[in-house]
Formats: sequence, structure tokens, C-alpha cells
Amino acid sequence: MIKFRPEDCLVLLVDDVSQNLQLALEILNSAGYATIFASSVKQAIERVKTANPDLILLDLMMPEMGGIEVCKRLKSDNLYAHIPIIFVTDSNKKEDIINAFNSGAVDYINKPFHSWELLARVKIHLEMKKTQEELKNINSQLEKLVRTDSLTGVNNRREILSLGEKEFQRCRRYHRYFSLLVIDMDYFKHINDTFGHLLGDKTLITVAGAIKNCLRQVDSFGRFGGEEFVAILPETNLEDAETLARRICQVINKLNIEIDRQKVRVTASIGVATFSTQDNNLEEVIERADRAMFAAKNQGRNRVSLGKTV
Ligand code: GH3
Ligand code: MG
Ligand code: MG
Repeated sequence: MIKFRPEDCLVLLVDDVSQNLQLALEILNSAGYATIFASSVKQAIERVKTANPDLILLDLMMPEMGGIEVCKRLKSDNLYAHIPIIFVTDSNKKEDIINAFNSGAVDYINKPFHSWELLARVKIHLEMKKTQEELKNINSQLEKLVRTDSLTGVNNRREILSLGEKEFQRCRRYHRYFSLLVIDMDYFKHINDTFGHLLGDKTLITVAGAIKNCLRQVDSFGRFGGEEFVAILPETNLEDAETLARRICQVINKLNIEIDRQKVRVTASIGVATFSTQDNNLEEVIERADRAMFAAKNQGRNRVSLGKTV
């Protein structure tokens, strides 16, 4: 967890009475916070847009549009809704306080306030905001990790299956088509046994990158397992998928992989299958490509074989 530092936080103070602004500014500045201020509703909205503060201390009673309106406006804008707003008010009326919370405020402080109370409330809401941001960051990192193969950085099996499922449903729904390639490295056990696991790993990384380079932006690609990859090709018929598979075979065959002055040449066998309206699920397409890939192995490897649609 990142240590809380007031100087990393920008607080916007909004009040139409300059003495009020002055007092709050002094308290916050002496505690180390960076501050900006606004003395009208219009100026407040402008400051939020230009400075993107971490927290807003907002006077409830303001001319033109009241503080409640400012709060509602900011909370309805996706860009600013995350900024915590604390109302500063001399009203003790129940309706005002309920209104303040309903408009999206996180807290309120009654005037006149003690400096320790203002600082305590500001700090706790800033800390909560930072914690939320950290959690959001960690969450998006985790989401990426869950989808990614840690060795090659391409999609993992779970993700390629999920992308394939979406493509399968799209084609069913809109009467479209896609093809799928199962790409399996030839004699990879032998590569590991001869050159070591490290070079085997490097080979897989290089091969994954090379295959990706052959694909289009709209294609999906991932590592399906050990030394096996899957590519999903939307709007591609069997013939075009075969042409692409042949190109991938050639590209892999021409790769020069080198580590510690050892050079390795590798080949792959590719099975190709195309979606058929008779397919009940994605697995049936994958199985067809898989059987074709094994046929390519049996025919001598380093080649492409087509899956028969029933
Ligand atoms: P075939 O031509 O019939 O496909 O033979 P193969 O040796 O490629 O197939 P097999 O399934 O017998 O062996 C797969 C090999 O792939 C064995 C395994 O050690 C290797 N492998 C799987 N995952 C990794 C990995 O992450 N890194 C390395 N270096 N090797 C891996
Ligand atoms: Mg293999
Ligand atoms: Mg395999």
C-alpha cells in the first residue's frame, strides 16, 4: 500500500465568502495539502475540469446554483463522479443534510468547524479514494493476468476458448463463418532434450510472435497448451484459412532461433477447420481441426491438413 502524503493530494475549496475560503485554505495548507479554490459555481466547475482535484470541499449555500446542484452535476459526469465531495454547511436542517448525501456527497462538516475535524474528514476520504484507485489498478492487472499466458504473453487457453465461443455465437446468430487453426510444434520434446528447456521456452516465445505477425487484427490467437497454439479467423473460409496455414508453416520453418550460439530450426503441423451450421458447439470445430492436425503429423509433419466438415 502506498503511504499517504498530503502533498500528493489536491483539494478544491469552493465558497463564495472569501473569509471562509481563507480559513480553510490556511488549515489545509499548514497540514501540507496542495489547494486551489473557487468563489463561484461557474469557477468551481471550471477548476474541476482543468485541475482534476482529489477532493472537493463545497459550500452548501451558494448563489446562482446551490452547492447541491454543483454536486449533482459533477456526480452525473463520468469523468468527475469519482471525486469525493464534502459539504461545508451552517445548516443543521435534516432536509439539507439528506439532500447533501442524496446528491452524492460523501460527508458534511458544520460551520464553524474545528481544524482537527476538517483535517480528519479530509484525510479519511482521501485515503479511501486512494485505496479504491489501488484496488482498481490491481483488479485490472489481475484481469489481464487471468487472460494471458505467462510464458509467451499471448492469450491463454481460457481466453482463446472464450473468444472462440463469442465468435461461434456470432456466426450462428448472423449466419456468418469462421475458420480455426490448431498449430502443434513438431518433435518439440526432442528440441527440449537436445537444446535444453530454456531454449525450448525461447522457441515458443519466438513462434508465438511469428504466428501473431501472420494474423489480422480481427483474428484471435492464443497458446492452447504446451507447444500447441490456436488461431480463430473470422470471415475466413476453408480455402483462405489453408493459404494462411501454409504461410504460417513456412514462416515457422524459416525462423532462426539462437541462444548461446546454438541455432535451432523448428517446424509445425497445422490442422484447419471451418465452422459449419451443423456444429453444436465450439469444441466440435476444435476437434475437427485437432484431428486434421494429427493427420498432418501422420503424413510426415511440417504440413497443413484440412478437417472434413460432416
Ligand atoms: P509431435 O511432433 O508428435 O507433436 O511431438 P512432440 O514432441 O512435439 O509432442 P509431445 O506431445 O510428445 O511433447 C510435447 C513437448 O512439448 C514435451 C514438453 O516438454 C514440451 N513443452 C510443453 N510445454 C513446454 C514449455 O512451456 N516449455 C518448453 N520448453 N517445452 C514445453
Ligand atoms: Mg508437438
Ligand atoms: Mg502437443
